[in-house]
Amino acid sequence: MVKELPIFKGYTVDERLKEFRRVIYHDEGPSMEFIPFDSPKGQELLSEYRKQKIHVDEYGEWTCLCGNVASEDGFFPCDAEGNVVEPTPQEWTTNQYRCDRCGRKINQATGEIVA
Ligand SMILES: [Zn+2]
Repeated sequence: MVKELPIFKGYTVDERLKEFRRVIYHDEGPSMEFIPFDSPKGQELLSEYRKQKIHVDEYGEWTCLCGNVASEDGFFPCDAEGNVVEPTPQEWTTNQYRCDRCGRKINQATGEIVA
């Protein structure tokens, strides 16, 4: 199954390829714009992207930016690469969760989007 990638400011955020990309529609047809994470514009977008937070309600229930909640696709402990790990002190050293719908990584303590 292909996971949906996060969208930020109209750009698809691809952690694997380390780029933002979007389709721009012109009169003569669509073209793709690619912005690598390590370009100046990419760095700017990335720092804004990482300032976002998931919504945490008064009961501590999470709602991801994609709309996912724990009772739907859920959130899973993950390592720095976003791989799901067992929540043991040995395996789970990042204190991060991954949204199982969009793949965003979330800092458990702050609710901030890590990647
Ligand atoms: Zn999500």
